[in-house]
Amino acid sequence: MRVGIGEDLHRVEEGRTLVLGGITIEGAAGLAGHSDADVLLHAVTDAVLGAAGKGDLGTHFPSSDDRWKDADSRVFLGEALRMAREDGWSLANVDATVRAERPRLASHLGAIRESIAEIAGVEPARVNVKAKSGEGVDAVGRGEAIGATAAVLLEAAPRG
Ligand code: MG
Repeated sequence: MRVGIGEDLHRVEEGRTLVLGGITIEGAAGLAGHSDADVLLHAVTDAVLGAAGKGDLGTHFPSSDDRWKDADSRVFLGEALRMAREDGWSLANVDATVRAERPRLASHLGAIRESIAEIAGVEPARVNVKAKSGEGVDAVGRGEAIGATAAVLLEAAPRG
């Protein structure tokens, strides 16, 4: 088994679409970023890459590369998992926390969980997503940024 962690933070930007875990959340300010700025998928992807010993998101999908301008971050997670599978690993589980003052995410967590499970090709029971507010302090708490943290466990894929 291999464990990995992932961490990300994006600045809130009015006029952008908020995408979290591959789901578009209507009626909320979006996040600044070169890709679609899906802070949650970025954290999960970094956790997969970490567990697989494959470096980080920025190395594989640099923001200096125009190919990834406004990119759908589902591609990043899919690619990271493909690399892990190539080395004989399968996804045992993901646990993640999104930190956001706004919007309140409780009602979206089920859809986000199913979305990540679908991207990863695993049953939703292997994915857990939690939400926390920022208690009014720091950049998240002031509503200036949304952050995410993820832990991933990979296990040796069954042979055959
Ligand atoms: Mg990011």
